[in-house]
Amino acid sequence: MTGVETSELARISVRGVVQGVGFRPFVYQLAAKYDLKGWVCNTSGDVKIEVEGASACLRRFLFELQNNSPPQARIEKIAVSYHQKRNFTGFEIRQSLSQAGKYQLISPDITTCGECLREVFDITDRRSRYPFTNCTNCGPRFTIIEDIPYDRPNTTMRLFRMCRACQAEYDSPQDRRFHAQPNACPACGPRLELRNSKGVRLETLDVIAHAGQLLKNGKILAVRGLGGFLLACDATNERSVQVLRLRKRRPGKPFAVMLTGIEEARWHCLISEPEEKLLASPQCPIVLLRWKPESSLSPAVAPNLKYLGVMFPVTPLHHLLLREAGRPLVMTSGNLSEEPICQDNDEALRRLSGLADYFLIHNREISARYDDSVAFIEGGAPGLIRRARGYAPQPVPLNFLARPVLGCGAQEKNTFCLTKENHAFISQHIGDMENLETMEHFESTLTLYKRLFNINPEILAHDLHPEYLSVKYARKQGAKFPHLKLVPIQHHHAHIVSCMVDNMVESQVIGVALDGTGWGSDGHIWGGEFLVADYRGFQRLGHLEYLPLAGGAAAIKKPYRAAIGYLLKLLGDRVLNAKLPFLQGVNPKEIEIIKHQSERNLNSPLCSSMGRLFDVVAALTGVRAEIDYEGQAAIELEMKAYDDDGRAAGICYPYAIFEREGVNIVGLRELLAAIASDASCGVPTAEIAARFHNTIAQMICDMCRLLAARTGIVQVALSGGVFQNRLLLNKVIPMLKACGFSALTHRQVPGNDGGISLGQAVIANFSSFKK
Ligand code: ZN
Ligand code: ZN
Ligand code: FE
Repeated sequence: MTGVETSELARISVRGVVQGVGFRPFVYQLAAKYDLKGWVCNTSGDVKIEVEGASACLRRFLFELQNNSPPQARIEKIAVSYHQKRNFTGFEIRQSLSQAGKYQLISPDITTCGECLREVFDITDRRSRYPFTNCTNCGPRFTIIEDIPYDRPNTTMRLFRMCRACQAEYDSPQDRRFHAQPNACPACGPRLELRNSKGVRLETLDVIAHAGQLLKNGKILAVRGLGGFLLACDATNERSVQVLRLRKRRPGKPFAVMLTGIEEARWHCLISEPEEKLLASPQCPIVLLRWKPESSLSPAVAPNLKYLGVMFPVTPLHHLLLREAGRPLVMTSGNLSEEPICQDNDEALRRLSGLADYFLIHNREISARYDDSVAFIEGGAPGLIRRARGYAPQPVPLNFLARPVLGCGAQEKNTFCLTKENHAFISQHIGDMENLETMEHFESTLTLYKRLFNINPEILAHDLHPEYLSVKYARKQGAKFPHLKLVPIQHHHAHIVSCMVDNMVESQVIGVALDGTGWGSDGHIWGGEFLVADYRGFQRLGHLEYLPLAGGAAAIKKPYRAAIGYLLKLLGDRVLNAKLPFLQGVNPKEIEIIKHQSERNLNSPLCSSMGRLFDVVAALTGVRAEIDYEGQAAIELEMKAYDDDGRAAGICYPYAIFEREGVNIVGLRELLAAIASDASCGVPTAEIAARFHNTIAQMICDMCRLLAARTGIVQVALSGGVFQNRLLLNKVIPMLKACGFSALTHRQVPGNDGGISLGQAVIANFSSFKK
């Protein structure tokens, strides 16, 4: 082995996110650097490489392959074998191979990179002001792919023939657009068009400048973005924002705002270092930030909230539009409340004609609807509220080999999840499964994922709620295809397992699942659940006491109804004589009806939900009597608590924990009596709200200690929509740690019902092994 330079051939297979991220050009350039000959090729399953040359060079090549790969690449596995030399004469990028039965990971869409942006804003560049500029490091991916392997003919870019200049870039290994599939320029690529609300095209020299002017004038624009249409308007113009709310039939739910960058964001928000990083990350999610009271944005952007959803421009189109408008822009999904985001031009012109004054459209088709992701930072770590653009369809890694299973998800914030090998492919946010359009979105996205990742599920996991459309879908499939196995899974068990998988934890945990509504195994409404759980099963060892939800769904829309029902049940009629301010606004006849309903158990399902308890306290304290978006009352109660000047510090309300048939039940009588008394004698609402948050944190801790004493388990998983309450997270995590627990929270998937499908798919993987 001394001094003789041997040479050999290495056959390499690279798996992971290695297509559509500039990986082959990177390999090409690396081979040139080390004077290696051979080829690289995309297949449906991996990137294959054969290189030959001096052994020392091969080793360095392999080292760099693993350690210096392009920024968006994510290598999962490299396999190398050595063979006889074949005496290649050069290095080439070979035609992609498509193989039946294989699959590959697909890159999410990536925010415009710095180099592309410089070109867009360089008036001498041939891509000056070109809104579809991209390169191998940035641009659309998932939203244009129709099939694998990821090559131009398999994307919606196949309709555009590259001009000579673009083709030369595409073919040149020296160029950063070498094999950039969506490569385009003003001469050959997609184009913008401006239309009025009747769909008539506006003749204009500079479409973006014109659109910017319209926004300045207070108009509402439907803008075809990356994954669908957005509705944009001037975020500093109170009237525009109000008109948008009116037309969208969305009175209260917060809008996100697009700002040019960190400097502008600092005018409006308080921003920590991790928040800044997240805002500027290639995923570019909407980040919830502390909103400064002195911000010039219209308060109607996010009524009654202290957090503002901020995002930076995602594509050159957003950059240019923002610059032309010269002001922060509201950017909200282009739909009527509850419907999925519009995707096609014709569809948008039809569905959004009553919403937008003008349409800024283009002719690059969108293959997959893709909403903006929503994230936040709490305790220095990121969490997701909505997982879509920038994240999906990247899989969540599993620590076991999964079978092909479909988790159908829940009802609200639906996603589905397909498992295969060590991957859980969670779909992008689909939406609330409450109408035909969303159901169609669900089915078409599922078809796409099945094709891209080559998964044919044999097992369908679904919720227990008989009215969920996702459940009806599963049952219909089961009836149609008798070989499919259906596995019903309890909602809160799915929440907890989702959190476990999110943290790669397998061993039994104490699961604290707090949310608004989930169908319980006993047919009641659950939502304040303390479980001992693993992938195989769960035991419900504790919960909030059952109380009647007077009027069912009506009590969810009108928290004051839930409050009256709870108070009557817990404190009796005398509560109606107490001078509770919130009762002043309620018609006495309605109070009688509620009384009648809850006494006779008429349309008053029993419920142990923590989300409802937050609602009840919000109503009781006058924070909110009726809601117009899900979670509103609880969110506003959290906001109120931030206003407390520290008087509530550490103070809790009383509550009871009693045991019934081996189950620890949290009794709420003392708690609601104390809050009612405070509310009627004028204790500031902020103080009550803060004390209430203290109490819930303490309650969680107490329950965990009881369960730990019974089971010896010290790992706690926190899941469910209630844990989007950052004040609560802030209080409960240090408390749990101080009691010796390790607390798991969601990182890669949302803790709300957007994470349910992951838990379902994993549980079904394990339950099916039982037979
Ligand atoms: Zn770029
Ligand atoms: Zn071109
Ligand atoms: Fe839930």
